Amino acid sequence: MNKVIDIFGNEITFDCMGCDIANHKLIPPGGYVYDDGFINVSADPEIPIEGFMVLGINKHIKSINELNSMERNKIMDILNKTIEIIKKTSISNEVMLIQEEKAKHFHIWIVPIHKWMEKFQNNVRNIKEIIDYAKQNFTKQKELELLKAIETIKREFNKNVKEIRKAVRCYLVKDDKVVSIKYNAHNKKAEYYDIPGGKIEKNETPKQAAIREMKEETGLTVSNLKYKGNMIIEYPDRIYDFDVFLTNECNGKPQNFSENTSEWIDIPTLLSKEKILSSLMILNNFYIKGLLEDNNFYMYIKVDENENILDVTYNLGKN
Ligand SMILES: [Zn+2]
Repeated sequence: MNKVIDIFGNEITFDCMGCDIANHKLIPPGGYVYDDGFINVSADPEIPIEGFMVLGINKHIKSINELNSMERNKIMDILNKTIEIIKKTSISNEVMLIQEEKAKHFHIWIVPIHKWMEKFQNNVRNIKEIIDYAKQNFTKQKELELLKAIETIKREFNKNVKEIRKAVRCYLVKDDKVVSIKYNAHNKKAEYYDIPGGKIEKNETPKQAAIREMKEETGLTVSNLKYKGNMIIEYPDRIYDFDVFLTNECNGKPQNFSENTSEWIDIPTLLSKEKILSSLMILNNFYIKGLLEDNNFYMYIKVDENENILDVTYNLGKN
């Protein structure tokens, strides 16, 4: 057990501060400004600098080298968002980033540069003096300012963070054909082509969800599913976080249902249809390698409500 005195003068104990904060065993000052189960952002229990944020993760690893490309991408997005908020809310217009591999649990310090740091040349070399000075000069007034900054950052995060829906997509591909579904009239995306899949229910794994949705939407029983990566699709008001599975093994023939029809369709023919959802983009020549070959992929697609593509990030991972 480690023991330290927090910024409010209370003794706190922990085995690993990073793990305890990630698991909500140790609640950081002012609570979490962001927490998605993998990444959390919060104030540091020991460092009383206004707007000072720590980006932590729920894995007990020490190096960025131990993360996969999806995790690194997610960290970079949240890091960017945190810095953006610190600047936008005028807490500071410059930050220092600090990450030490000697810390046993990966985290990044996001240190806003304040005017009073000038006597330390705003310099990362003087970080110890900066922190000591902040501790020695931490008054009740400073405490209020610090808590207010946390609230401000939290509010901005909640304003910007859209609802995230965890879901799956199952690509059944054989001889340049794929099983696609087309939504029927009453669906919000009526007449659009999509890949079978849906929401992950409680008590099921992503793979089980993929098998179940495939059965519900196409009547096919699929087997030997391979996890291929992560596809994030961001709409103006919501974000889908898809686990993507690939297989070429199935039993039965695609059937039609009241919600949707389903069929085997030639990939180029499918891509030439007028109404296709952005989940089909991975079937494009340029991206299909991540789906069909051994690599995992990470794909982020930003779209408007009419499926116009606004932004794409695509990475091939190794693990
Ligand atoms: Zn840990």
